[in-house]
Amino acid sequence: MDIFELTKALMNIPSVSGGEEAVGFFLRDHLSSLGWNVEMQPVSPTQNNVIATLNENPRVWLSTHMDTVPPFIPPTEDDEKIYGRGACDAKGIIAAQITAAEALKKEGISDIGLLYTVEEERASTGAKAVNMHPLAAKCEYMINGEPTDNDLAIGSKGSFRLLVKTSGKAAHSAYPEEGDSAIETLLDILEDIRHTHFPHDDFFGETTVNIGTIDGGIALNVIPPKAEAGLLIRLTTKREPIEQALESVIRGRGDIEVLSCSEPVKMLPIEGFSQKVVRFTTDIPHMPNWGKPLLLGPGSILVAHTKDEYVLKKDLIEASELYVSLAKKLLG
Ligand SMILES: [Zn+2]
Repeated sequence: MDIFELTKALMNIPSVSGGEEAVGFFLRDHLSSLGWNVEMQPVSPTQNNVIATLNENPRVWLSTHMDTVPPFIPPTEDDEKIYGRGACDAKGIIAAQITAAEALKKEGISDIGLLYTVEEERASTGAKAVNMHPLAAKCEYMINGEPTDNDLAIGSKGSFRLLVKTSGKAAHSAYPEEGDSAIETLLDILEDIRHTHFPHDDFFGETTVNIGTIDGGIALNVIPPKAEAGLLIRLTTKREPIEQALESVIRGRGDIEVLSCSEPVKMLPIEGFSQKVVRFTTDIPHMPNWGKPLLLGPGSILVAHTKDEYVLKKDLIEASELYVSLAKKLLG
């Protein structure tokens, strides 16, 4: 199977977060047939991380995630591109990494491992589960794959997910003076958040806030007693100063419920590779035991998670060559 066939075969198996079992079995069978030792690490009754090695304790690992965002979009192609869900995030990356690992194997280099996780797109539960795996102790470098346009990402912003919750007092809407609208309080808080300049960082850039969801109220004729908004803040600093800034904007008018947080990470710069900082987060903050992290992959984050997701075929080939040269450089 060549790199394009492997990309399409992986894309043909739906694996929206939580439903990665079949694609994991496919990878197990494919890698076993190529001579890899494959371990399926259970993460939940229907989810397994795939861990493949050639020798006992590889020093350099290639990794990415098997899950995708919804909806499933089957692969199509033309001469230049492969289109569909997972083309660049991240099934094309899995194919490029396996192609690179096979090329290294053919050159007699066996000091490499392959790691494919579940649920990166939700809460990185696969990465969290694999962090304590005994093989982590011998890993010196973890080359993670996400769409970076084949540049070496030397930094990635963090991701802070939280709810802002307000409460009020329900009343008949004809007698608003009898109630207290949780939605109006929430709107005031959100307006203040939109005009807040959060701390930023010269290396990582601006801290940005997305008000992603708003929920609240009971009926059109009831003063709403409860409301909440879901925020995703792209962190460029530690969490504390941002949380403090939020508290001082909210000024007791509502409560913060933290859903998850991964802080910004610096990754290994390597001479000879074009470098940049990316704004998205990855599995890397959840796998601190797996050596020094690097991040590179084919395709653009700007098309990942969209209905128009694609990857250039030439970028898949280039990525597999870049993984080979990175691995060789790291192995010395
Ligand atoms: Zn991804």
